[in-house]
Amino acid sequence: MATQLDGVDPTAARKLLFSIAGLPGGPDRGAVERILHLLDEGPVGAVIDGEVVSASATFDLLDPSTGALLGSVSDCDAAVVDQAVDAAAQAFATYKRQSGASRGAVLRQMADVIEQNQELLAVAEALDTGRPLWEIRAADLPLVIAHFHYFAGWAGKEEGTTTGLSDPAIFHYSRREPLGVVGGIIPWNFPLVFAAYRIAAPLAFGNTVVLKPAEQASLSTLLLARLFADAGVPAGLLNVVPGQGATGAALVAHPGVEKIAFTGSVDTGRLVGREAANAIKQVSLELGGKSANIIFDDAPVDAAVAGALGGIFFAQGQVCTAGSRLFLHREIRDTVIDRLGQGMAGFVIGHALDPKTTVGPLVDANQQSRVQQYIDQAREAGLPVLHERKLDLDADLRGGFFVTPIIFGVDDPGVALWREEIFGPVLAVADFDDEHDVVTRANDTTFGLANGIWTNNLSRAHRVAAELESGTVWVNTYNMFDPAAPIGGFKSSGIGRELGSASVQLFTRGKSVWINTAV
Ligand code: ADP
Repeated sequence: MATQLDGVDPTAARKLLFSIAGLPGGPDRGAVERILHLLDEGPVGAVIDGEVVSASATFDLLDPSTGALLGSVSDCDAAVVDQAVDAAAQAFATYKRQSGASRGAVLRQMADVIEQNQELLAVAEALDTGRPLWEIRAADLPLVIAHFHYFAGWAGKEEGTTTGLSDPAIFHYSRREPLGVVGGIIPWNFPLVFAAYRIAAPLAFGNTVVLKPAEQASLSTLLLARLFADAGVPAGLLNVVPGQGATGAALVAHPGVEKIAFTGSVDTGRLVGREAANAIKQVSLELGGKSANIIFDDAPVDAAVAGALGGIFFAQGQVCTAGSRLFLHREIRDTVIDRLGQGMAGFVIGHALDPKTTVGPLVDANQQSRVQQYIDQAREAGLPVLHERKLDLDADLRGGFFVTPIIFGVDDPGVALWREEIFGPVLAVADFDDEHDVVTRANDTTFGLANGIWTNNLSRAHRVAAELESGTVWVNTYNMFDPAAPIGGFKSSGIGRELGSASVQLFTRGKSVWINTAV
C-alpha cells in the first residue's frame, strides 16, 4: 500500500482542495469540509449494526492526485469480522421473514439516501480513488441509484415452480429462499458501484450483508453505511468492514457466511475460490479482462473512435472491461489512429476533483509503478508509440500517482502488453484484414469478460457477437452497464452471473417440497 512521498505537504494539499472547490462546477465546499472533518476525527471505523466500530490497526488514506496523507481507516481483524457477521446473522433472523414489499421499501429508502447525498458520496469517491469527479457524478452515482430502485422491484419476485412427478399423489413444488449472510468483497476502482451490486440484490431476496471494501478506497462505502444508519435504515442489514487481504480472508473463512461474492484480480479470485471450496460455501467471482475492441472497415467511425478512447481511458483504464486490445481493419487504421491522437490531445490531466480534469491519477503508488513498468518494458522492447499524452503537471500534483496515457502498436501477440491485464491508460493496437482472423485473435486470451465490435453490417454484428468468447459483447457501444443486464466472465474472467434476473440464482437457494396428498 502507498505511503506519502517525502516532500508532499498535506496542509498545502488540503488548501488545494478548497481552492478547487471554489471553481465553477467544482466539488461542493460543504462536502469537502464534511469529508475532511470525518477524517480528522480519527481513523474511519467499520460500521456494524449501525454503529461505528474501531479496530486497533489502521492504514493510510492518501489523495491519489497529490499523494498527500489525508487520514486513516480501521484495518479490521478477524474479531471485528466476527462481530459484523454476528450482527448480520442476527438481522437475518427477522429480515428473512419480511414481505417482499417491506424489503423493497428498505431498498427504496437506501436509494433516497444516496440520491440526497450524491455530491458528498461522489466527492468522497473521487478523493479516494483519484477518478475524475465529473465521471463519478455522470456515470457511477446514477447507476448506483438505479440499482437500488431496480432491485426494490425484484423483492418478493423470487418465485418457485410446481412440478408433476411420476407419482400423481405427490404435489411437488420448489421454493427460492435467501441464503443468509452474504460476504461481498470488492475492488477499489468503482467502490460504490460494486457496493450496490453486493447490497441491493442480496437484500432484495432477504439476505443480509457484510461488505469488505478494498484497502485502497474504502471511504465512500463507509460513508454510505453511516448515511444509512443516520437515516434510520434498519441496523445490521449492511455491515462494512474495511481492511486488507486478511480481512477479506477472514470473511471467506467465516462459518457464518453462506456466500462470497467477489470482484477483483484473477490471482486473489483463485485464492478466494479455493478457500470458499474448503469451507463448502457458494462463491461467485468477477475477475479481470483483456478485452478486444474491434473496429471493422464498415464501422460508424465517429462513434468507434469515441468508444475506443472511452474504452481504454475511462477511469484511467482501471476497469476490468477496459478495451485494452484495439483491432483496426487495415482500411480504416490510419484514419482511426489519427483521430485517437486528436482525442488524446484534448485530454486534461489533473486533480480528480478539478471540474476540467478528464484524466486523473491511478489509485496508488503500487498501481502507478506496475503500469509504468509495462510502459517502460514496451519502450525498451522497441514497440512503436503511436500516441502519448505527456504529463505536464502543476507543482501541486507532482506527488500524485499519474501515468502518461499512451498507445502502442503491437505486431507480436506474445508480448506482455498484449496478453496481461495492465489496469492503466495503456492501449495496444493491432491491424487485421479478415473477420475470421480477427475473431480468432480476439479469442486468443485466457480472459473472457467483455469485447466490443464496431460495424454497420447487421449480419456481421450478430455473427461476430456469437463467436466472441466473453460474458458481454457490446456492438457500436462500449462499457455500458445496467442493473437489468447480467454480467460475468468466460474462462479466467470468472464464475457466475450477476445483475438482472441472474441475481435471483446468485442470492437465493432452491428447496424441493414434497406433499403426499394420499394420506
Ligand atoms: P486488485 O483489485 O487490487 O487487483 P485484489 O484482487 O487483491 O486486487 O483485491 C480485491 C479485493 O480482494 C480487495 O478488497 C482486497 O482487499 C481483497 N483481498 C485481497 N486478498 C484477499 C484474500 N486472500 N481473501 C479475500 N479477499 C482478499
